[in-house]
Amino acid sequence: MRILITGGAGFIGSHLCDRLLDEDHQVIAMDNLMTGTVENIAHLWGNERFRFIKHDVTNYVFVEGPLDAVLHLASLPSPVDYLNFPIQTLKVGALGTHKTLGLAMTKGARYLLASTSEVYGDPLEHPQSEDYWGNVNPIGPRGVYDESKRFAEALVMAYHRSHGVDTRIARIFNTYGPRMRMDDGRVVPNFVGQALRGDPLTVYDEGKRTRSFCYISDQVEGLVRLLFSEEVEPVNIGNPQEMTILEFAHRVLEVTGSKSRITFIEPTDARTADDPQVRCPDISKARKVLGWSPTVPLEEGLKSTAVYFQEKM
Ligand code: UDP
Repeated sequence: MRILITGGAGFIGSHLCDRLLDEDHQVIAMDNLMTGTVENIAHLWGNERFRFIKHDVTNYVFVEGPLDAVLHLASLPSPVDYLNFPIQTLKVGALGTHKTLGLAMTKGARYLLASTSEVYGDPLEHPQSEDYWGNVNPIGPRGVYDESKRFAEALVMAYHRSHGVDTRIARIFNTYGPRMRMDDGRVVPNFVGQALRGDPLTVYDEGKRTRSFCYISDQVEGLVRLLFSEEVEPVNIGNPQEMTILEFAHRVLEVTGSKSRITFIEPTDARTADDPQVRCPDISKARKVLGWSPTVPLEEGLKSTAVYFQEKM
């Protein structure tokens, strides 16, 4: 297959490039390099089945030749990034989805949207299954990300229903691993970086909020299975092993053997505004329709992530 991956120089996008090239497909990575980096795909230079196009998908997207699949991963998924770039976040979710759906329609390509657990907002149902409609503050600082992805899902379903585009929607929960940007502000790079440097781990508020962390290879496996499945409606892809952020801080200290202490801080900026109190995927649907569930234990995934960050440092 000939596959376009937007956000192909980003964290998840670049791992998807690797995986699909390994399966002998042709891959075109498209990225405006706002948060993605060529370092993530530098090892693919010289692979004749790989191409990179620097382009911002909020503008008209042109790709020469046939395409069998379009995977729309371009996004600003880190809260720090989308708080700093709210308009770009809305544009890539809305205009970028529109442009890439139009491309998929023209080429007769299958389309996969990387959506998010943030569509559930600060959830009133726990764990979150795909039929929960969510609890999102549309005008809050996080709303720019959440609403852009909610709009994107609506647009995908509209193109499916009105134009017959063959679509897939992955609701991606917190994912971590090598190639995350160390300065992207999310809890995994923050804590692992702090632990490696011997700096205090910055637990926001009391660390009682919960998350569950999916290792990148598991995430990619789930996305690829979804792409090649027949499931049109959204599927949660995440790890259901839930823990508080304080517990997570202790796990990072154990795995890295760090002597860092834990510090509790109360951010006064928008970082924790509308921060979901709990988050955990119900993955019954992914188990049933994709035969997928995560396999990489947190310790193992954190070790590989720490090795990557150590090398970067
Ligand atoms: N968090 C934290 N310290 C940090 C960074 C994040 O306590 O240095 C918390 C944050 O408030 C949230 C959780 O960790 O409750 C996960 O945050 P992240 O930015 O990784 O992603 P989110 O799941 O909120 O999209």
